[in-house]
Amino acid sequence: MCATCGCGDDSTVITLAGDDHHHHHPHDHEHPHAHAHTETVALEQKVLAKNDLIAEQNRDWLAERDILAMNIMSSPGAGKTTLLERTIREAARRRPVTVIEGDQETLLDAERIRAAGARAVQVNTGAGCHLDADMVRRALQTLNPAEGSLLFIENVGNLVCPALFDLGEQSKLVVISVTEGADKPIKYPHMFAAAGLVVVNKIDLLPYVDFDLEKFGDFVKSINPGAQILPLSATTGDGTPAWYDWIELRANCQMSLRSVDKTFSPE
Ligand code: MG
Ligand code: ZN
Repeated sequence: MCATCGCGDDSTVITLAGDDHHHHHPHDHEHPHAHAHTETVALEQKVLAKNDLIAEQNRDWLAERDILAMNIMSSPGAGKTTLLERTIREAARRRPVTVIEGDQETLLDAERIRAAGARAVQVNTGAGCHLDADMVRRALQTLNPAEGSLLFIENVGNLVCPALFDLGEQSKLVVISVTEGADKPIKYPHMFAAAGLVVVNKIDLLPYVDFDLEKFGDFVKSINPGAQILPLSATTGDGTPAWYDWIELRANCQMSLRSVDKTFSPE
């Protein structure tokens, strides 16, 4: 499993979109795979425990600034960046939006986000297949999102290990497109168990593909009865009002929790 791979950490490159002074670190890292099963399990637990500690620090840092952080996960090509481009154009008038973009290579998605009108940093994970809490911590230092803003964290396209890594976000959501199989929830149960919201994207393509929305919903509910399912099209905008309502509800919750904290703080 990737938690034990050892790649990612020292090969990670974090770049503010529009920063011309971008240099790749040499890919001189090795991939020390642990072979004994017991060693693998112990190392995995250690990696995840360290990650969870940093994630809690990120969560505190974000809460102090009333920033709502959302971790967006999906397989490659489900439309995460397209959904963010539309969201920035249509929702950024209400609250400032910043984005942390995770990809193995290239600055392409951070440049798309910047062109849509939001500040973004690109995290290049090199051989790594997920974002971890320390990458987000470092990205936050570069990005320095404003108080009361929305922070979208677009994870590396992968339905497997991003589910394991807490980044310090308030909400985890998974995006699936109707061009993928309706059986994805039962094939990748950890991802669908972790996500509070399941966005079904590209519904404009439903007439052309064999995707059973009802069956998909049953599969999701069998793994995560509390998950909310939101069909939409990031291309046409169909269904996106419910998406903005979902964001707004969470942003207001975040604020009211914070004001309760302020009122009843024992300090
Ligand atoms: Mg993307
Ligand atoms: Zn991974």
